[in-house]
Amino acid sequence: MKNEFKFNCSLVNGIHARPASHLEKVCKQFDCDITLTNLRSGNTGNAKSVLALVSTDTLLNDPCILTFNGQDSEQALNKLTQYIHNEFAHCDQALDKPGASEAIVLPQSLLRHQPTLLQGKCLALGIGKGRLIGNEDINLNLFRTDIQYDETARFDNARQQVSNSLEQAVQDADGAEKEIINAHLAILNDITFVDDIQKHLISQSTANAVLASLEIVSEQLKQSSSAYLRERIVDIRDVATQLLCAAYPEINITTKLTLTGPSIVIANDLTPSQFLGLDKELLQGLVLTHAGSTSHTVILARAFNIPTLSGIEAAQCADALNSEVYLDANLGVLAVQANQGVRCYFDRAITLNQQLSDKQGAYAALSAQTSDGKGIEIAANIACSVEAQAAFEKGAQGIGLFRTEMLFMDRSEAPKEEEQYEQYRQVLQAADDKPVIIRTMDIGGDKPIDYLNLPQEGNPFLGYRAVRIYPAFINLFHDQLSAILRAALHGNAKIMIPMIQSIEEIRWVKEQIEIVKNRLTAQELEFDNDVPLGIMVEIPATAFIIDQFCQEVEFFSIGSNDMTQYLLAVDRDNDSVAHLYNSLAPSFLRMLDQVVSTAHQYGRWVGLCGELGADAKVLPLLIGAGLDEISMSAPKIAPAKAVLSKLNSSDCKALFDQACQCPTINDVQALLDNASASQESKPLLSTECVLKNADFSCKEEVIQSMVGNLGLHGRTDNTYKLEEDIWAREAVFSTALGYGFAIPHTKSEHIRDSSISIAHLNKPIDWQSDSGDVDVVIMLTLNKEQGDQHMRIFSSLARKLIHESFREQLRHSKDEAGIISMLEKELAV
Ligand code: PEP
Ligand code: MG
Repeated sequence: MKNEFKFNCSLVNGIHARPASHLEKVCKQFDCDITLTNLRSGNTGNAKSVLALVSTDTLLNDPCILTFNGQDSEQALNKLTQYIHNEFAHCDQALDKPGASEAIVLPQSLLRHQPTLLQGKCLALGIGKGRLIGNEDINLNLFRTDIQYDETARFDNARQQVSNSLEQAVQDADGAEKEIINAHLAILNDITFVDDIQKHLISQSTANAVLASLEIVSEQLKQSSSAYLRERIVDIRDVATQLLCAAYPEINITTKLTLTGPSIVIANDLTPSQFLGLDKELLQGLVLTHAGSTSHTVILARAFNIPTLSGIEAAQCADALNSEVYLDANLGVLAVQANQGVRCYFDRAITLNQQLSDKQGAYAALSAQTSDGKGIEIAANIACSVEAQAAFEKGAQGIGLFRTEMLFMDRSEAPKEEEQYEQYRQVLQAADDKPVIIRTMDIGGDKPIDYLNLPQEGNPFLGYRAVRIYPAFINLFHDQLSAILRAALHGNAKIMIPMIQSIEEIRWVKEQIEIVKNRLTAQELEFDNDVPLGIMVEIPATAFIIDQFCQEVEFFSIGSNDMTQYLLAVDRDNDSVAHLYNSLAPSFLRMLDQVVSTAHQYGRWVGLCGELGADAKVLPLLIGAGLDEISMSAPKIAPAKAVLSKLNSSDCKALFDQACQCPTINDVQALLDNASASQESKPLLSTECVLKNADFSCKEEVIQSMVGNLGLHGRTDNTYKLEEDIWAREAVFSTALGYGFAIPHTKSEHIRDSSISIAHLNKPIDWQSDSGDVDVVIMLTLNKEQGDQHMRIFSSLARKLIHESFREQLRHSKDEAGIISMLEKELAV
């Protein structure tokens, strides 16, 4: 029996992956065939397949027909009519708008050389230089051929061969590489993909069948509104290429790019296996025209520290192919046809970048303790196993928060226990017995998962998320616990439960852990029976009964992100109230005090793992509060250790007690500012700001290097903006004062510690003024609080420079210390 139902699509974003999966589920409840026809595009698709529904290209207000054919088509028609009228429009929400990223200021020391720059988008930080090598897309059409003999056997053999070689590669790989090869194995075994190829094989050659299926899947994915799904096209193409190469070994197609010297590779799409085949010693940068930030090739590039940009077309730099180019991912540019000045800028930038990462490497190895020897653990927040190794290299003393929900996101089904076990085991092994806090999935709220079909909520942050969804998804929770308990045999694991607000909840969790342990025992699987259990303290209610929680769990970690939003009733994601979202609120500090001191009374350990921990300026308060651990994103660890080493724990305690008594956030802020002004500031004159025998070739390089040196020593957080301020003053009048001296200067909000820098140049350079060439540069960078001091120092220096004895003394001082002591005396600073 055949039935039909007409409707207009009411979805603002049309039928993309998420609503398609809702519709598919409803349709699958019936046995009859159900097809959706879009009367505008003329496309028809099986309504029981997400890919087919997405491929109908149905947009808002498109007229559509659902056709039902089969036994229960009457019931299906009734159900679907109701569903489309009442629920369909609500199963989707507006898509995220791309966030406006903060504009990067291109430094004057580069712009003044009039570079030819192609603007891209940074996918992996860093700066590189090399020959621009174009990677031609592989022309898969070269494989097209007629049916030759037993095509099914040819395809099966090829599939087996690729499968064997991927299985072998998985054995040899680890980290990101392993994950990605596993993803390719999953594609090779994907039922839809393989079924589709097999259907084509009835009337076509293996090559044509694989290409036809590739085209269908790619077209379907291209329509997807999910960037993640669109980015899987390159993975599917990668697998298809491997299949074709295996099926037709006689067709000589090189998929491998061989680099012969330092290179920047530009490609439309570079497949993960092509990336893995590149010599990483020679690969200095990548431009992936169409890649997004979750593309597997980009994940690999980050893991291998290869600076990467997207958004630049190969055609834009056709003239530059095979010539030397610079890729500065920090600035988001590719510099082609570089003149001498531009080369000079980037060579210097590469050196400064290298010095900075060497320096941070040294901080990373510091033990985390205050100047008076009070130790605190500085740990890392991670979201996937690949990040762990890098976090430890950056100085993490543990993993304070492993956000496991990321393993569940951007995929079509939950990871199986084995996959999770593998992830947790990898992190624990990378940790080498350092503690790893694995937080069970914090799904729901602002982290929706399509395949769980969680309801749309008016107030998701107060709704169905984290521990609250576990009873409804008990198998998922049990599998996760099971994976953690088993992996815990490989290191020092702890389990942490998010969003706990009552004793009942944690007792229920403990019962579940017992159930899982019994299941593991019955299955005769080995696990760690003594994994410590803790909770996130991120709901104010928990803080009030922390003494009672001390009877139930072994540790706590304060989630400052959520705690701030719940304590202050300010949505953490709402721009309109962003000015009210501030963890320096005295109420927050008192909560911190209450939690830490009570937990300590009961001998319990307390960490903090929200964004607050990454703010080095707040560190004195967190130390003063007596936290045992602070967990933050890995790049913040080394700077945090450096700040920590200069703090005194008793001063921090006094500061925290005082802050808890402040009535307003401004008062707390003022207290912190005062403390940091008196504690932190580095001396105005210091040997670290003296560059003797400097080999600079132009004024731009002098300013770039002197400002870069301030960045290197943590005296500025933003070298680009500080430089901008120096050049702004330079634009008004040249700072060359004659006698071979120049005094560039600024009073800037971008200098943290006021500084006087001195550079002795090996050879005089043109300062672009009437006052002749310059061989000694004294740069004054003073912060706003310094009042008019910079003008006082400037005029004092100008007066001194009139005297030859002063100039000679400055020029011929033997070493850095000599220069500093002479200036200290002469300037009386
Ligand atoms: C927090 O709330 O501070 C926290 C660390 O958890 P998340 O940001 O993942 O909610
Ligand atoms: Mg949270």
